[in-house]
Amino acid sequence: MSAAAPLLRLRGVRKAFGASLVLDDVDLDVAEHSVVVLIGSSGSGKSTLLRCANLLEVVDDGVIELAGRDITDPRVDANAVRAQIGMVFQSFNLFPHLRVLDNVTLAPRLVHGVPRAQARDRAMAMLERVGLAGKARAFPDELSGGQQQRVAIARALACGPRLMLLDEVTSALDPELVGEVLDLLGELKNDGLTMVVATHEMGFARTVADEVCFLHNGRVHERGTPGQVLGAPEQPRTQEFLRRIT
Ligand code: ADP
Ligand code: MG
Repeated sequence: MSAAAPLLRLRGVRKAFGASLVLDDVDLDVAEHSVVVLIGSSGSGKSTLLRCANLLEVVDDGVIELAGRDITDPRVDANAVRAQIGMVFQSFNLFPHLRVLDNVTLAPRLVHGVPRAQARDRAMAMLERVGLAGKARAFPDELSGGQQQRVAIARALACGPRLMLLDEVTSALDPELVGEVLDLLGELKNDGLTMVVATHEMGFARTVADEVCFLHNGRVHERGTPGQVLGAPEQPRTQEFLRRIT
């Protein structure tokens, strides 16, 4: 892999559910340490794209490469690929019966075989990173939604992913809690984390994205810098989408 090769690369990706084509010839490049934001109406294919990149869905056609390696090859060990990718969802999916710290140490210990003390140290460092070290012994339902989502992000980071996929991670939050999660993502970008973020938060896209991709009916209709796509969109569908949501 040359230094310039993207960390994640999609070429000609197609995915259908029955008769409905949900991803139609999608190309995407995500350079290491960059943030790509996916925008588009509900049903445009954002979640499916992220799920394909994490091998939670099998593509029908096309190629997905992670660090130059074709991960759509059926011989690839999907778990080994997923171990390099962190995914965070709209619904935080914390284990309610486990304390915050145990939520964060679980995957490193069970999936990656990290010894308990080491997993604990790393989890505490990640909780520190998301500003929640003081909540390590709390249960999820003792936290606000924004705090729970930050724990979910710490949990994903604890496995040391090369790439993070974030799917509308603020959509389930009360409006006053959205900012703390978006601010955290901005800080993680500054730390050099590579992220693909599906979101309806245009302010975030404008300030944090290196590239914005507008999806419509499973196709990338427009892509470019935030200034281009959000500030001066060329495609009528992008213009219409932005008019509707802003
Ligand atoms: P978005 O995240 O942009 O809202 P999705 O990727 O969730 O879009 O969905 C794109 C389209 O694929 C929608 O029409 C949705 O109904 C359909 N879809 C998603 N997942 C499935 C599935 N497992 N089975 C059938 N249809 C699905
Ligand atoms: Mg979605």
